[in-house]
Amino acid sequence: MRPPEALSATALQLYLTCSLKYRFQYVDRLPRLTLSENQAFGTAIHAALNWLHKARRRGHNPPLAEVLQVFEADWYAQTQAEGAKVQFDEAGDAAALGYKGRELLTQYYVLPTGRVFDSEVWFTLPLVHPATGESLDVPLRGAMDLIEVDDVIVEFKAPKRAPPITDLPDDIQVTTYAYAYEKLFGKLPREIRKVALVRTKVPRIEPQITGRDHKDFERLFHLGREVVKGVRSGVFLPSRGCWLCTDCEYRPDCDEWTGNEEEISNAQSAR
Ligand code: SF4
Repeated sequence: MRPPEALSATALQLYLTCSLKYRFQYVDRLPRLTLSENQAFGTAIHAALNWLHKARRRGHNPPLAEVLQVFEADWYAQTQAEGAKVQFDEAGDAAALGYKGRELLTQYYVLPTGRVFDSEVWFTLPLVHPATGESLDVPLRGAMDLIEVDDVIVEFKAPKRAPPITDLPDDIQVTTYAYAYEKLFGKLPREIRKVALVRTKVPRIEPQITGRDHKDFERLFHLGREVVKGVRSGVFLPSRGCWLCTDCEYRPDCDEWTGNEEEISNAQSAR
């Protein structure tokens, strides 16, 4: 079957976590009838942070109230406007998460940060093995949340729980951004800061700092190549019990899944 148009850190991670969900999302492109609170909250937080960083890049530090307004407008549009389809874990979560979002952005706003070089930096780049020069025929695509002057990449997450520090060395997103940074700017990032705006009962901000080198880029290349092989060969398996199952938008499709071959050829001929 056709290879993917592009690889992204999210797509790679999704294939590794549940390749069947990857298929529903990227191959079959099934409509999402619901949206998890996780995705909705992350989108609203990112919208507000990106707006703040773009303003700071222009040399203007907008008042906190305006940053909160950006968050609230996005949150309202996603959760309360007509057609809203966010699925909350518990009743009353929309208001509670709205409060936590404001609290987290307030904490972030007063943190000392580096000077903004650029915010939401998109890239589409060839994925090349750093030692052999072999290039995948599928490009790598993504967007870095924030680049600070002095070669610092900052990535934001808004998780329910603080991510364990032990996950950091294998974080595909971090590796992808470091790879892209070197391709774009001709040098490795000096630092990669992963900032978790953790929406626990008492919301708090937890930064983790790491780096990457060419060994990590080799591994990224091999991961990308194997995922493309898996997609081309139509290897898509349910990973029941994985953490994505909790609020998977494709649960009904997964329940009805009876194998790949016939369904995929049907989906392709329908396109
Ligand atoms: S319900 Fe779980 S196993 Fe099924 S597609 Fe979703 S994440 Fe994968």
